[in-house]
Amino acid sequence: MKDTDKHRGLRNQLVSLLKEKGIVDKNVLATIANIPRHFFLDSGFENFAYQDKAFPIGEEQTISQPYTVAFQTQLLELKKGQKVLEIGTGSGYQTAVLFALGAHVYSIERQNKLFKKTKKLLENLGIRPKHLSFGDGYKGLPDHAPFDSIIVTAGAPIIPQALMAQLKIGGRLVIPLGEDVQEMTVLIRKNETQFEKHEFGEFRFVPLLENKN
Ligand code: SAH
Repeated sequence: MKDTDKHRGLRNQLVSLLKEKGIVDKNVLATIANIPRHFFLDSGFENFAYQDKAFPIGEEQTISQPYTVAFQTQLLELKKGQKVLEIGTGSGYQTAVLFALGAHVYSIERQNKLFKKTKKLLENLGIRPKHLSFGDGYKGLPDHAPFDSIIVTAGAPIIPQALMAQLKIGGRLVIPLGEDVQEMTVLIRKNETQFEKHEFGEFRFVPLLENKN
């Protein structure tokens, strides 16, 4: 697939829309302006890539809406070189955004077909997360913990205890919480036992499922 002036123009329009919708983090906006989102959709759907919409990526999963990607990434308050764990690799677009922001990215996907397809895509695009894992995100990645931040990109009915345990002191867990509709929630780890909770309004995600296929 190619990245053309037309695509770049559409991305700039998308970035303007994200600004209108309240995204203020300049690094996040610049990253969205840079990354060809159409590379993460099957060819034939590239006209949909720069609409601010979620889109099917097969296996009943979706690539998150650009606004949601921008909003969650902004909430992470990432600094270069930080270790970030993503739950739900999906299309790899959010992974690419985190990588472009200079994070050391670890990501878990429970759908084997998507895991394999996205691993190959990221390799082909020269996007190099530290670690891509096929498995259950509820468990996190204890062997690679602790993380500066954790982003969950599927709707979680509960806060997985393992993810709280794998967060550094001062670290942030960004997680959409709820069954049908999710409340975007940030937990900041204050010390070994205490977490501060902040809520940022309603979003809709595909569910965070237990047990991999
Ligand atoms: N970050 C992705 C969002 C994909 S949708 C993107 O930008 O495209 C959410 C993803 O979470 C799906 O791919 C789904 O298969 C995955 N998922 C659901 N439950 C999971 C779990 N328990 N562990 C890991 N991944 C999970």
